Amino acid sequence: LNALPDRDPEVFEAIVAEERRQRDELELIASENYTSKAVMEAVGSVLTNKYAEGLPGRRYYGGCEHVDTTERLAIDRAKRLFGAEHANVQPHSGASANMAVYFASLEIGDTVLAMDLAHGGHLTHGMPLNYSGRWYKTIGYGLERQTERLDYDGIDRLAREHKPKLILAGASAYSRVIDFDRIAEVAREVGAVFMVDMAHIAGLVAAGLHPSPVPVADFVTSTTHKTLRGPRGGIVLCKSAWAKKLDSAVFPGIQGGPLEHVIAGKAVCFGEALSGDFKGYCAQVIANARTLGEELTRAGFRIISGGTDNHLILVDVTPKGLTGKIAESSLGRAGITINKNLIPFDARKPLDPSGIRLGTPALTTRGLKEDAIRQVASWIVAVLNAPDDEALASRVRGEIADFGRDYPVPADAGSPAVA
Ligand code: PLP
Repeated sequence: LNALPDRDPEVFEAIVAEERRQRDELELIASENYTSKAVMEAVGSVLTNKYAEGLPGRRYYGGCEHVDTTERLAIDRAKRLFGAEHANVQPHSGASANMAVYFASLEIGDTVLAMDLAHGGHLTHGMPLNYSGRWYKTIGYGLERQTERLDYDGIDRLAREHKPKLILAGASAYSRVIDFDRIAEVAREVGAVFMVDMAHIAGLVAAGLHPSPVPVADFVTSTTHKTLRGPRGGIVLCKSAWAKKLDSAVFPGIQGGPLEHVIAGKAVCFGEALSGDFKGYCAQVIANARTLGEELTRAGFRIISGGTDNHLILVDVTPKGLTGKIAESSLGRAGITINKNLIPFDARKPLDPSGIRLGTPALTTRGLKEDAIRQVASWIVAVLNAPDDEALASRVRGEIADFGRDYPVPADAGSPAVA
């Protein structure tokens, strides 16, 4: 950054402070990651200046030949990465991607069967204050109380009872493999459109480490910034039969001009996931999450469903006399960023729930492996065993900043540490 310090020191200072935070603290938010420097260069490029309503080769503006190139690269790579028949890379976010699918396949008032927010779903899957809950009738499915895993028989029963027009699978806080084939079969039997929101696990799907929903779903939406490690944004993949409806749902249905600088960043991200050792990175993400769960279990915490198959764990902190809110703030003071989270069948409220959610995508990008994760777990345990101990929090904060020097963030290293 060289123009910004003079032109706008206030914004510059805030960006520098955030850069420092990302380098000196431990990022364990399951939905976050560090993009490569190459992705950031694309997103910070002159492409931000360009209007390009329409699709490559069919734009409403002149001068689109170069953004046509980058958008075509993004589309072709997304299709190759996921084996999809059609891709639209223009959604500004995961929420927009989901809205586009609703717009393409439903009428206002139609019934949708989706995972309850309180059991790990996302707010765009029918939360009453969200468009999805206000404009559509949503029936929620959830987890089995005993196993804390998806209740597939319940999905089947609810589908037969309510005859939804669309069944939506996918979650924001679920640590187990989702059996997309099984839900697809239910959708087929009741004649529902089958949509999967794979935002959290998209990287693992791309790497072949989670079963892909692409062969069995009519639509698959995703964000590009979580395990996929790209810029903030969304994509929709679909079967060819839905391509036209989807494209016109994105534009002019719910969006205007696409963010071509972000789309170029998506192209770089998909290229990175197609080459190099992206599978090795994702395998390490999963191994790290498993190690973190084992360490916290050993320390007396309860891991929801007893463990994890993916990049995140959901932890019940109440056996330690804590709440999610207290855990989040005490870890925050020690330089460990996580988020409080409802656990399944939580008796507490969303703003002060019983759990926390921790994920390993960001730390794995910095190069942490199992031994380093054990060290991270020991800091988490120490802080949560003494949440009011300010001296301990500040000592841990200092140790983490020192520790972090061995694990550079991509912005410093030039490329992801594990890639
Ligand atoms: N879908 C799922 C499953 C998510 O977890 C999220 C975000 O966390 C989204 C959609 C929304 O993505 P965005 O924040 O980009 O709108």
